[in-house]
Parts: sequence; structure tokens; C-alpha cells
Amino acid sequence: TAQVHIIGGGLAGSEAAWQLAQAGVKVRLSEMRGVEATPAHHTDSLAELVCSNSFRSDDADNNAVGLLHAEMRALGSVIMACADVHKVPAGSALAVDRDGFSAAVTEKVAGHPNVELVRERVDALPADASTPVIVATGPLTAAKLAESIGAATGRDALAFFDAIAPIVHRDTIDMEVCWFQSRWNKGSSGRRSPGSTEDCRGQSSPDDGKDYINCPMDKEQYHAFVQGLIDGEKTDFREWEKDTPYFEGCMPIEVMAERGIETLRHGPMKPVGLDDPRTGRWPYAVVQLRQDNALGTLWNMVGFQTKLKYAEQVRLFRTIPGLENAEFARLGGLHRNTFINSPQLLDGTLRLKSHPHIRFAGQITGCEGYVESAAVGLLAGRFAAAELAGGILPPPPPETALGALLGHITGGAEADSYQPMNVNFGLFPPILGKTKKADRKQMYTARAREALAGWREAI
Ligand code: FAD
Repeated sequence: TAQVHIIGGGLAGSEAAWQLAQAGVKVRLSEMRGVEATPAHHTDSLAELVCSNSFRSDDADNNAVGLLHAEMRALGSVIMACADVHKVPAGSALAVDRDGFSAAVTEKVAGHPNVELVRERVDALPADASTPVIVATGPLTAAKLAESIGAATGRDALAFFDAIAPIVHRDTIDMEVCWFQSRWNKGSSGRRSPGSTEDCRGQSSPDDGKDYINCPMDKEQYHAFVQGLIDGEKTDFREWEKDTPYFEGCMPIEVMAERGIETLRHGPMKPVGLDDPRTGRWPYAVVQLRQDNALGTLWNMVGFQTKLKYAEQVRLFRTIPGLENAEFARLGGLHRNTFINSPQLLDGTLRLKSHPHIRFAGQITGCEGYVESAAVGLLAGRFAAAELAGGILPPPPPETALGALLGHITGGAEADSYQPMNVNFGLFPPILGKTKKADRKQMYTARAREALAGWREAI
């Protein structure tokens, strides 16, 4: 019989299951895909990546998510282990072959002798308080369970937009027109250049070597393209989607276009540091594509999340120089995101205050992104394992990336204005005293390493 019931086999549920199983705890992992799909997932593999294939920066010295990677590796994360095995070139970022990655997670987690993977949709929070539960059903939590969560928490889950960028078949890109280059031909500095292009979820371009395919535009083409975005037919909003705020880093491309003619040229279509080999100069504007799978056959359009209608996307994106004959493996789209008001509802170890046998993990807690979701899954699994062993796992110190993220979710954030958050140095206790700005990131990460080592020794 299961000692812990995990609902949802995404990034968080898979990691939580792994941590528990490794601690010798029997897990029932309920995953509905295989029986019922979600609007964004395409497979029934565990830990499927629904949009970008990037885990963002892997720089543990200068970047908060890179630091989180390192901390998760140190704690035996299955998500990080599988990502490392299936990584594809992406400069200083960690990007993965999505199919290889998810297949590896499935094999490891479902193949663990302590894990029973059950393909089932769970429609209500389990009432039996004798079995601890971890809810990790993510941004696309099935409706009935969401209702049940709403009933238990006394608050409605929030819904807002997320966005998918289109993916293009590499062999349909005209390389007579496009060229391989990263901005400034930069090496793996891990630094985010000011104003570097942002793709879905605020991921920055890694600025490395020749990792990007660039499609150049002249002024006339750019102006026509921006007008096309503004005029293009969009998908209709549903009633519940209205008045929903966008993330700055995940804003549909046409919404950026509406903000002003120059907005895209200063955002995802920024040409600086990109030399068109046909002219030896920076073009007026550029569209960048980044490798999306290990084979290098699929490339995603960086920052091109959109709510344009599919036919409109195909028509308009084929006006981009070099993409005249592009075939799209996936077109852009919009999805909802479900999350609870964690600072108000959860205690310091992610338990629902009103029903302490239930923990939440992953994006439904209001963290943001693959890595963060897996990190919160890791913590939920470890907290539950410690509890079953009769102890209490103290939360990781707030100076660590894990602790900073957890602290934000379980109390650091304002409950009234709680919004999903990526890990960032703004969540860490500030470095006091006078420091050079250039040194500050490394001071955060050095302090974090020390704090994590101390915590690991103590536990
Ligand atoms: P998920 O990975 O979604 O896993 C939840 C699982 O629970 C799913 O497998 C689902 O099938 C299952 N489930 C749901 N309800 C039930 C039920 N009632 N019973 C049983 N099983 C159930 N993050 C990034 O870092 N980069 C991106 O580019 C990015 N793009 C995104 C684009 C879209 C459209 C969306 C929706 C999200 C995106 N995210 C992105 C966020 C990303 O989905 C999450 O960060 C991550 O997948 C969350 O992990 P999770 O484990 O919390 O949820």
C-alpha cells in the first residue's frame, strides 16, 4: 500500500515521487495523461515540457536559476539528472531534447520499485487523512479537481494567460537568407546582456557561439510585419480569460506590436550584435530561432508566443525572410494557468493549513517554470519523507535558491497581490553593506553554497 499519494506526474510530481522513493517510501503516482489529455501536453510521458525546451541559465555563479540547478543536483534531483543526460547546445543555458528527457524521467520514476504509476484522473482531494497527499497537478489542473481544491481552500484559483512560441522544421528554413550566430558571438559568460531577447517565460537568449538561426528584415519588411501582427485575426477571448494580466516576459508578440513600432526591435526582434553575412551589417530587425530537439530538426521562434489564429500565423510568419517555405511543427497558442494563494494557504513545509495531510507542489503553488516547479516538488517530497520518518525537515535557509523560492511561496510574498514567480536574486535576503554591483551576484551564490552546505550537514 502507498504511504504517499502524489497527484500529477509533471515536473513537480515526478521529482517528489523520486525523492520519496529514494527515501524508501512507497508512492502512488496518479497521472491522468494516458487516459485524458491536457490542452498543452502532447504525450503521456512524465515531466513533459509543454513549451520551451530550456531550463534557462546553467551558470551557478551569476544566475539564480543556475544556482537552483546546482542545489537540485546536490540533492539528487531526477529532473536535473535526466536534463544533464539529454542536453542540447544552448550556450550557457541548459536546454534539452524534450522527448529524450521525458522518456528518461518516465523510465527512472515509473521504473522505481517504490513507485506505482497509475493512469487515472483524480477528481477530488483525498479525504483520508491517514495517507499524506501531494497535489502537483500544475497550471492545467483538471477542472473537477480544481473545484475540489477551491472548495477546500475557500478561495478561487486564479487563471491567466500563458503562451507557446511556434516551432519550425529546420529543413524548411532558407539558409541562403538566414545564418547561424549568437548575439555578439559571445562565449558562455552566463550573463544576460541588457535587453537580451526574451522568450516565453522570460528566458534570456544565451548569447553564445552560433546557437541561433537569424532571419534578417529590412525597414520596409519590419514595418509591414508589425502591421500584419496588429491587423492579424486573433483567437477569441473566453469570458474567464478577460482582464487577465500578461507577464512582461511572456507577452504575445502582437500585444508587443501594439505598444509601438519600435517595441519589437527593442525586444525579441532586436538586431544588435548580429551581422548579416550578406551585408556585413546588422539588419534592421531580426527573428531568432533556437534548436528545440537533439536532432536539430526542430527550431523554435524565440519570443514569438502569440494568440494569432493558426492560419494567420502561417501566412504572416511566412513573410519573414528565410521562412517563406517554413513548415511548422507546432504553432503558437495560449493557455490558462491555475495556482493557489500559497502565502495564505500553506505552512512552511507546503502543507495546506486547513488539511495538513495535503501538500502542494509545483506550479500550482505559484512558482513559475520547469526548474522551479521541480524544485518545489523536490522539497515537498523531502518534507513528506521526513514527516513519515517521524522527524521534521527544517526548510532550507533563505540564502539558498531553494530556500528563497520556498520562502516566497510560503510567506515571503504578499498574499493580496500574489503572482507566480521565477527564482531570482530579488527573493534572497539582500547582501548588506557596500558592494560593487558587479560582485553582488557572486556574493549571493557564494553565500548560498555555504548556507546549503550548513543545512545539509545539519539534516
Ligand atoms: P505539470 O508539468 O503541468 O504537471 C502536472 C501534471 O498533472 C500533468 O501531467 C497533468 O496531466 C496532471 N494532472 C492535472 N490534473 C490532474 C488530475 N486531476 N488527476 C491526475 N493528473 C492530473 N515553464 C517553463 O519553464 N518554460 C516554458 O516555456 C513554459 N511554457 C509554458 C507554456 C504553457 C502553455 C503552460 C501551460 C505552462 C508553461 N510553463 C513553462 C510552465 C510549466 O508548465 C510549468 O513550469 C511546469 O510544467 C509545471 O510543472 P508542474 O509539475 O507543476 O505541472
